[in-house]
Amino acid sequence: MKKLRIKFDKNLCIGNKACMAVDSERWINNDDKVDLVDGKNEGGEIYTLEKEFDEDDAKVVIEGAEVCPVNAIGVVDVETNEDIVKMEVSEEGNKVVNAEYDDDKEFEVDPKGYFLIKVDREDKKIEVAFCEKPNEVSLTVRGDNPLEIYQTIINKEKLEIRKDHYAYLGKELEKAFIALNEDIEYVQDDELDFSKKV
Ligand code: SF4
Repeated sequence: MKKLRIKFDKNLCIGNKACMAVDSERWINNDDKVDLVDGKNEGGEIYTLEKEFDEDDAKVVIEGAEVCPVNAIGVVDVETNEDIVKMEVSEEGNKVVNAEYDDDKEFEVDPKGYFLIKVDREDKKIEVAFCEKPNEVSLTVRGDNPLEIYQTIINKEKLEIRKDHYAYLGKELEKAFIALNEDIEYVQDDELDFSKKV
């Protein structure tokens, strides 16, 4: 048996429910967040649970905490006071670099193809066309927001393009989304101009 203390900062929780998927005995759905089952409120949005777990359950508890993308869950071994899952983000070994890139000199065309992005104001959609060859569209994806469009392109259509090309797609989709919602002009590759209302 292992005595563990689970600590949950509900304030940090973004509600992706990853903890629930791993450890459904400790975590239950609560609207856009989760609750720690039998968690004791320690003030504010902090909840704790101290309990003995058998080896298998302890593994699940730890894994449920480790999958949290925002470090909202911590696990401490009560006997040794060791932090098994830390809530603090460690800076140890962190490498900090200044970003550098000169688009005029360093840009390279992706040989796999290129995107044509536009907004359909009538249907309130963003439309992305991919051309494998010049002026020949081989795939069109329409959607309401950047997330569903790039997830479709990356994970469903499995378009094999360069990583920087995917990053470019995300940037342009966000611009198109803002332009659509703010009723301003969208021109692919140009900066948004909030004075250009449509
Ligand atoms: S994994 Fe973390 S962020 Fe996601 S629901 Fe659980 S506590 Fe919240």
